[in-house]
Amino acid sequence: MKNFDFLIVGAGLYGATFARTATDKGYRCLVVDRRNNIGGNIYTEAVNGINVHRYGAHIFHTSDRTAWDFACRFAQFNRYTNTVVANYKGELYSMPFNMYTFNKMWGVITPAQARAKLDEQIAEGFTGTPSNLEEQALSLIGPDIYNKLIKGYTEKQWGRPATELPAFIIKRLPVRLTYDNNYFNDSYQGIPIGGYTGWIENMLEGIEVRTGTDFLKERDGLSAISEKIIYSGMIDEFYGYCLGELGYRSLRFETELMPEIDDFQGNAVINYTDSETPYTRIIEHKHFEFGTGKGTVVTREYPAEWKRGDEPYYPLNNELNNKRYADYCELGENDIHVEFGGRLGKYRYYDMDDTILDAMADFKRITK
Ligand code: UDP
Repeated sequence: MKNFDFLIVGAGLYGATFARTATDKGYRCLVVDRRNNIGGNIYTEAVNGINVHRYGAHIFHTSDRTAWDFACRFAQFNRYTNTVVANYKGELYSMPFNMYTFNKMWGVITPAQARAKLDEQIAEGFTGTPSNLEEQALSLIGPDIYNKLIKGYTEKQWGRPATELPAFIIKRLPVRLTYDNNYFNDSYQGIPIGGYTGWIENMLEGIEVRTGTDFLKERDGLSAISEKIIYSGMIDEFYGYCLGELGYRSLRFETELMPEIDDFQGNAVINYTDSETPYTRIIEHKHFEFGTGKGTVVTREYPAEWKRGDEPYYPLNNELNNKRYADYCELGENDIHVEFGGRLGKYRYYDMDDTILDAMADFKRITK
């Protein structure tokens, strides 16, 4: 009999949810991560008393009661509601697209006026069936907003023309004919008080975790002590890139402590939507927790091309990559000792709630 039922590779949200769910049902789990810390990309670290989101800002939001209840087992969530400001060459707009945005863009005041203007814009923009992000955006919101708030940001973020990107990416953003500035449509939203690292730590309570442990370097030894591997890293790396690389988008973060400035930008997230500014957004971390202390910490987020050895943040879900991913999955299906999960393992643009639900569903399927 092996020491563990599940060896879970990756101590991020997927791995922690799987480990917690399995442990609660009596399975023996070992979690390993090659980083020296738990939390994966939701890892936060206190700097000057401010929880800094080291691998990009995360705001938990969901409409799923199961995901929310699970999240709330491990931390109390604050009432943070994401309201984003877009800065286009010094002109400020509300995000997502709502009456404040339309008022600033066109001077309209009522929803009926905005609807009429949007219809006019869409007729000018694109009226067919959208087959890429640009067409999708033009058919949703028209050229004025597309050109100021979407095109530059999107092409920086993804490093390719919007005509070569999948339409679904832009469907993440709501379009509202109300003065509601909430970035998300979900019923529940917030940030764990004390930071995400503590949240994951509580999720992993009583479970053996080995950080600084690279599964791919200790593959044989680690595989031998566990019945099954739950792998939340990159599937192409797991298989030695034998079918070629999947595409990813990476990010570079420049974080700056400003001890003399108490409030740098007045909001947690400001997007820079022009094409010249090299970063996509500036995050001021203290605003995620309504911080009022002295000093502040800001992070500029620069999108970057991914190459082997870089951190992969976003899957590039084009046709070629999706097909290649499906081929890797076929390899995976013949390999009964391993299951893949999470944003990297499933090669999907998952939000945190999707990740939790995916881990729960995977556990159920594997153990049924
Ligand atoms: N987006 C945009 N302008 C913005 C913010 C977002 O055009 O000011 C587009 C862009 O294509 C981006 C997508 O909307 O990739 C999804 O944005 P979201 O904020 O959900 O991205 P994430 O926070 O996951 O990076």
